Amino acid sequence: MSKPMKAAKRAEKQRKLAERRARKMERKQQCPPTVTETLPPPAVLSDDALPAMANDYLFHPEKLNALCEWREEVRPLGLTNSGVTCYMNSALQALLSVPMMAQHLQQGTHSAVCSTEGWCAYCYLETLARAVVTTPKQAKSRSARPVQPKELIRNLESVNKFFSPFDQQDSHEFLLCLLDKLNEAFLKAAGLQAKELSDAKVHTTPVDQMFGGWGRQAIECPSCGYQSTTRTFFLDLSVPVDGHRRLEDGLATITAKEQLSGWTCDGCKATVDPHRRFTVDVAPQHLIVTLQVFDPINECKYRRQTTFPEALDLGPFTTQRTKTMYDLQAVVRHAGHSQHHGHYYAQTRVGAGWVEMDDECGTDVKLKDVVAHRSRDTDSAYILMYKRREFRVEPTDAPESTVACWQGPPTDATQPDGRGLVWMMKGEQRVKRLDPPRPRVWVR
Ligand SMILES: [Zn+2]
Ligand SMILES: [Zn+2]
Repeated sequence: MSKPMKAAKRAEKQRKLAERRARKMERKQQCPPTVTETLPPPAVLSDDALPAMANDYLFHPEKLNALCEWREEVRPLGLTNSGVTCYMNSALQALLSVPMMAQHLQQGTHSAVCSTEGWCAYCYLETLARAVVTTPKQAKSRSARPVQPKELIRNLESVNKFFSPFDQQDSHEFLLCLLDKLNEAFLKAAGLQAKELSDAKVHTTPVDQMFGGWGRQAIECPSCGYQSTTRTFFLDLSVPVDGHRRLEDGLATITAKEQLSGWTCDGCKATVDPHRRFTVDVAPQHLIVTLQVFDPINECKYRRQTTFPEALDLGPFTTQRTKTMYDLQAVVRHAGHSQHHGHYYAQTRVGAGWVEMDDECGTDVKLKDVVAHRSRDTDSAYILMYKRREFRVEPTDAPESTVACWQGPPTDATQPDGRGLVWMMKGEQRVKRLDPPRPRVWVR
């Protein structure tokens, strides 16, 4: 290769790196605000302590909870690849495999009130969900064709201004940008602005209720026991995999105590070396885990594969340390050597079985193949979606209109005021819970 060609190649590489860095910076700036407050030790927060989770919703939670299971048997149609769009297809296929998300979109509650001129991500996804998520009979019919997400590709810059229809992008980045856009479109259609709403309330959009959780950073003074707590909203947990064999080991790393130095305690005013610890304060309805499989320094992938369970207990990583069970719903895999090359595809739960969605092709797969190591070591699970195991209403005790899976740890099992409902936690324990609180604001 001649010198000028080498120089041009180097310049191109540097330009791409700078672009990537700029994108990362932009995403960081777009991160939701944090709620900072100081709590006396040893306060333990519960779901009810969060105003966002208690009684102030932008979208009625019952309307979502009623959709936590498929209403009829489904079979997704494939999505065509326009050359480099497997990152987008796999993220969409994982997202639309979540019954609550797909059925919420299919209901068209957003487009019924949206007056956006031009392209709207929410309106488009509603159309896409209706086209992609079909019944097995429709999927088998001769007229069934893979869906072309052309409109989304044409409007890719609306999702992320750095995305180009001609370049491979990161599936996780696309997914989070898309969820951001859905939130933006929801608020716009409701005539609301994020900055006018409290940090808690702004996270009660349908998307944030479905996928959002609250984390807690606590710094405890070793000398007086004073705790400083910061609560942060999250849409996914990014888990390191290098050196970890199991997902749970990665989760243990992000929730482990971290040594700080030179911190001035607000309680005793001394300068101390405290511990900081992150825990999941409010576990999300659907947990998105991103495995950090890409090595940013060497621009390659970590070779060691990480295992992940079908049934995950998030309990050890929560503030309350109560059993919080999840079932695997979807996996986005990446086959190849680096983030911006290779191929993405999804494996999703469909009813009792699993299907591998590789762009337009859907093939049945066995669960054991989904959670097993792939023979090629460049094929790694990248995004995992877990669905929180539901609380089931016992039909004899509960009124028909009751929500099907109101989430939350069964901490208030002995509410004596008679308003409680009897819930059955799948095969585990019987708990009594209050009716979910009524929202003050409904967006229909
Ligand atoms: Zn819209
Ligand atoms: Zn102190």
